[in-house]
Amino acid sequence: MSTNEQLVQDIVKEVLAKLQMTSKIGVGRGIFSDMETAILEAKKAQKKVAGLSMDQREKIISIIRRKTLENAEILARMAVEETGMGNVGHKILKHQLVAEKTPGTEDITTTAWSGDRGLTLVEMGPFGVIGSITPCTNPSETVICNTIGMFAGGNTVVFCPHPAAIKTSFYAINLVNEASLEGGGPDNIACAVTVPTMETSNQMMQHPDIQLIAATGGPGVVTAVLKSGRRGIGAGAGNPPVLVDETANIKKAAEDIINGCTFDNNIPCVTEKEVLAVESIAEELLYYMISEQGCYKLSEEEQKALIGVVLKDGQLNRDCVGRDAKVLADMVGIRVPDNTRCLIFEGDEKHPLIEEEMMMPVLGIVRCKDFEDALEKAVYLEHGYRHSAHIHSKDVDRITKYAKALDTAILVKNGPSYTGLGFGSEGFCTFTIASRTGEGLTSPRTFTKERRCIMLDSLCIR
Ligand code: NAD
Repeated sequence: MSTNEQLVQDIVKEVLAKLQMTSKIGVGRGIFSDMETAILEAKKAQKKVAGLSMDQREKIISIIRRKTLENAEILARMAVEETGMGNVGHKILKHQLVAEKTPGTEDITTTAWSGDRGLTLVEMGPFGVIGSITPCTNPSETVICNTIGMFAGGNTVVFCPHPAAIKTSFYAINLVNEASLEGGGPDNIACAVTVPTMETSNQMMQHPDIQLIAATGGPGVVTAVLKSGRRGIGAGAGNPPVLVDETANIKKAAEDIINGCTFDNNIPCVTEKEVLAVESIAEELLYYMISEQGCYKLSEEEQKALIGVVLKDGQLNRDCVGRDAKVLADMVGIRVPDNTRCLIFEGDEKHPLIEEEMMMPVLGIVRCKDFEDALEKAVYLEHGYRHSAHIHSKDVDRITKYAKALDTAILVKNGPSYTGLGFGSEGFCTFTIASRTGEGLTSPRTFTKERRCIMLDSLCIR
């Protein structure tokens, strides 16, 4: 058999497997065989959405919230089963967070000026149909959160889900469409194609009826969107450092860091990916991590074995992403206690497992001379993504200096990283953090465009 024939056979096998999988869930509402139809149906639905009152939009959003809560466990289990990543309990919490703290229409406010020359308003209107490319790490969370935000702004959305999370993403797309119908809205407020591929993504990105693209994923997809010539919101990768200095509460820092880093097995983009510990407290921090937080410290030899398994040709081995610490240890042949939450190790800032965005409960600790040294290393390790960074310190001047130097969309001080997503903290939730293009934590107003409306010389009643 020639290489070409083999390639065709492999592709056919892959497509059939995907079709078989999607037919098991009956594909669901909003799923079409081709991109052209998906966009056309989303466009028709958007015309109806634009005609809904704000009250009707809010009613539908409240049904999406209720259905998300009712289906949180199903979605959590489905995602772990389909992608092999993450933790069911934490994924349930993530869905509850999306249901309860994603902003709705209240986020879209009007600005007004009134005076002798009348009244001027700036109102936020819909773009129309938005294209949204979503990751396998938070598949249904991103679909639901983005749908609420985009729909609140009067848009509909065509999703390009990660091929490794189709079933979960389709379930979420079906859920939001069911909610719209139940609330008296149209079907197809969210759409996708049966077999999403790079080709269908490119088709979406080039389509004249797509007014805005939101890309949530690694550097590749954000670059592709920014090169597309369309308006793009780029929510890309991070490698969040966490700095611990000698003024911090070290016991609490250890607890917060391990709670953050093990949340959903470290796949959220905001979670602690490496620690910069000031030398004078490094030993104490390690002590609390090991003795109180269920961490296992790897020897140099165990580190080498781990590198051999989790990195393949310098790239993350997908089979290791989002796995439990114990499963990873078993894959490498390291014996660790069953209740191990995180594999920790010491290394310098050039260590391959420290430089890489490790989306798994593996955490490198870099000993630093002092705060200045730790700050320099944190800037280096964040790689200029300007996504997220965290710090444990009681010195306000240092915290300020760190925040300015890192210049990230999210900066958590003295808490676990997931508080940056609104989990257990003040502020709203999102799973699309547009660090690369500067919108920061996206919300409904991110998905609207400004329109100025002027009434000359009247309607001022001051
Ligand atoms: P990924 O980049 O592999 O895939 C993300 C999406 O982009 C998928 O739908 C994929 O099919 C698509 N894609 C990838 N390359 C593309 C290209 N060249 N053209 C068109 N589409 C393309 O990421 P993943 O593994 O699913 O998710 C993990 C990554 O996403 C991590 O780097 C994480 O930090 C990042 N992430 C960022 C945010 C954020 O809000 N900033 C949120 C979640 C995940």
